[in-house]
Amino acid sequence: MRPTMDTQQATTSDPRLPALEFQNVAKSFGAVNVIRGVDLQVREGEFVVFVGPSGCGKSTLLRMISGLEDVTSGTVSIGERVVNDVPPARRGVAMVFQSYALYPHLTVAQNMGFGLKVRKMPAREIESRVADASATLKLDALLDRFPRELSGGQRQRVAIGRAIVGNPRIFLFDEPLSNLDAELRVHMRAEIAQLHERLGNTMIYVTHDQIEAMTLADRIVVLRDGQIEQVGSPQELYLRPDNLFVAQFIGSPR
Ligand code: ADP
Ligand code: MG
Repeated sequence: MRPTMDTQQATTSDPRLPALEFQNVAKSFGAVNVIRGVDLQVREGEFVVFVGPSGCGKSTLLRMISGLEDVTSGTVSIGERVVNDVPPARRGVAMVFQSYALYPHLTVAQNMGFGLKVRKMPAREIESRVADASATLKLDALLDRFPRELSGGQRQRVAIGRAIVGNPRIFLFDEPLSNLDAELRVHMRAEIAQLHERLGNTMIYVTHDQIEAMTLADRIVVLRDGQIEQVGSPQELYLRPDNLFVAQFIGSPR
């Protein structure tokens, strides 16, 4: 037992440890039950992709991991710590959105360092982390630009850079490539795969794109109406879908 473990620090990856666990998690908005009895364990370093039709609860699940939404019942654990009552800033997770959510009046470097500044990190340390992240993401030449001076792909890289600098234990991606054109999506998909290889962090990734899911995922979670239909590797789901819904979603031959 390590009850005092600080989830803000990325730990060394031990694939035997759960990075994230949902136990019988439910969420209602008023009388509407949007998440119903979800159980899931994600291992340290795993790349897990959530797929399912619009409105099935993918974003709500991510928001319950990040703490932007509380759970109605059940528990969410990060590492060995139940985080139901832990505020977002102390959960050790970072979220990348489809809409980038950059500050228009801040430069690339300032956007990337903003969260660290809020956490009162010394300026030197911020500078060094921003430099590391921008090297990883090939943003070095763009640090003094403003978001309006960037392409869609560059903006998304800044949003990813902003997530990286906090050294999160878990990355959450909510349809991060949906706003990009097809060619750029393929390129950014490869970059995200490389990033995972390089950093080794746990990643939870929501997408509508079946090819994205099949190429990025260690395991895919197929959701429907706030429940898990099936969890498995891309191969397992493709070759042995439990039902027609999964088969159709994954594109299995039937
Ligand atoms: P997905 O990301 O899979 O498209 P969401 O998690 O965004 O689905 O939404 C799941 C369901 O919860 C939808 O029916 C949505 O309308 C509902 N929902 C999400 N957020 C709220 C909210 N703040 N208030 C009321 N209903 C919501
Ligand atoms: Mg969504």
